[in-house]
Amino acid sequence: MVKIPQALLDNLQGVKGFDAAAFIAAHGLPAPTSVRINPAKNIGLFTANEKVPWCSGGVYLNERPVFTLDPAYHAGSYYVQEASSMFLAHMLNSVLDGKEGLRVLDLCAAPGGKSTLIASLLDKDSLLVSNEVIRTRASILEENMTRWGYMNTWVTSNDPRDFGKLSGYFDVIVVDAPCSGSGLWRKDPRALDEWSEANVQMCSERQRRILADVWPALKEDGVLVYATCSYSPQEDEQVLDWLAHEYEVKSLPVSIKDECGITEVQTEKRMTAYRFFPGKVKGEGFFIAAIRKTEEADTLRPAKFKTANDKKIQQHAGYLLTDPNQLFIPTGNDGYSAIRPEHEADLHILQKAVYLRKTGLKLGSASAKEWLPDHEVALSTDANGSLPCIEMNREQALHFLKREDPGVGETPKGWHIVRYHGLGLGWVKSLGNRLNNYLPKQWRIRMEIDS
Ligand code: SAM
Repeated sequence: MVKIPQALLDNLQGVKGFDAAAFIAAHGLPAPTSVRINPAKNIGLFTANEKVPWCSGGVYLNERPVFTLDPAYHAGSYYVQEASSMFLAHMLNSVLDGKEGLRVLDLCAAPGGKSTLIASLLDKDSLLVSNEVIRTRASILEENMTRWGYMNTWVTSNDPRDFGKLSGYFDVIVVDAPCSGSGLWRKDPRALDEWSEANVQMCSERQRRILADVWPALKEDGVLVYATCSYSPQEDEQVLDWLAHEYEVKSLPVSIKDECGITEVQTEKRMTAYRFFPGKVKGEGFFIAAIRKTEEADTLRPAKFKTANDKKIQQHAGYLLTDPNQLFIPTGNDGYSAIRPEHEADLHILQKAVYLRKTGLKLGSASAKEWLPDHEVALSTDANGSLPCIEMNREQALHFLKREDPGVGETPKGWHIVRYHGLGLGWVKSLGNRLNNYLPKQWRIRMEIDS
């Protein structure tokens, strides 16, 4: 049973939708488990499960399986995500209304829940920049975005103020802000120990700083989504009102169905936001709002540039992709990545301001004899479907994911993608009677698998 601090209960008295008795009772129950299916890697899992009403692809699971022991999870077929936060899908679908070719920034993106969701909503001409300032967390983000498999998702690791230099560049900025985390106590009761009113205040101030830093990077008429997984109005409504006080903005309400239990709230400055209380919704605590920037903003124009496309590499490595008509660009250490041609100007703009950790799809590098394919290709939705592959059953796939011999017997010599239900997991190189496992060390599962 999670013991909720009295100071928070007192603080929430009078907040629309807050019902102390239902809230306390819900904290005596486990958090529901939910996942979101990757539409580009849908192998028909969980089709009979209850759906998350505000997100197509979101489903509740009746129990929490050991995801580490499911190769489909490693292949990026689904992402384990708390249901309330999937509301971002409904919000973006409503406010973007089918717009294409967008430049989207997910500023506080690790481990990647919102970014994988956004990636699935965007068309191929759009570009998603997923940023995480903390280096160690940026690695996890990069891993999750690689699993998700979209070439138009790039990963950066910068302080929000670095994005401020990109005047009027983004159509959409999502700030899923670092917060006091009260909304996730059912999932992580340890977070309770760090909660205090002083910490709520500190988070509120930090959120304002982050928003102020990134605000110049939003276009005129661009959309900012602000979200937290905390209940305190000091972090939620009051931060939204601070935005409305500092800048010219218009609130963007979206439609909701009464039966979902989501609470639509109005702030003092008449901004509309959505609150999620366990006990009312089947999900954790969450706060989210969308606003439009209505003030004039500078617009960054790309300087003239010479294309970075390397035609030789395109000829050499183009076989890896279903559509080789991409740009093949050097990314250091003799490596190359593929980006969509429509994103070359973005490359020139972004690399001047921020540190690009992952620019499109890493393709690998050339050796004297052959192309050494990068792990990312195996997980990419753009990988050429007719590359040599070895389909493995669950047990073999798990041994592969432990970097052990998967025990598949004789295989023709050369590079093969390891697949599970048709989804790529990584590369092996066959020497005929033996396979060399090319799964990167840091991707290896460390859990016992023989249970
Ligand atoms: N959007 C993520 C998702 O859906 O998986 C969760 C993001 S979490 C709520 C907030 C993130 O902000 C954390 O990854 C944290 O490392 C990052 N963060 C912490 N301090 C920050 C700062 N000063 N500026 C920007 N991001 C920060």
